[in-house]
Amino acid sequence: MPIYEYRCKRCGNEFEVIQKADDKEPLCPKCAGKDVEKNLSITHTRQGSCGAPRKSPIS
Ligand SMILES: [Zn+2]
Repeated sequence: MPIYEYRCKRCGNEFEVIQKADDKEPLCPKCAGKDVEKNLSITHTRQGSCGAPRKSPIS
């Protein structure tokens, strides 16, 4: 199942939720607010966060 990253508009808390595509939006685990927005760039940011150089080691 895919992992979705949400951000709470109420308190700014960011959290991850494992859910099916047809599930409803979850509540914020911090403040129990339901005004959350889905962040779809999670896989993008994780792959781009690696700071290692792309060239292979010479030795
Ligand atoms: Zn919250």
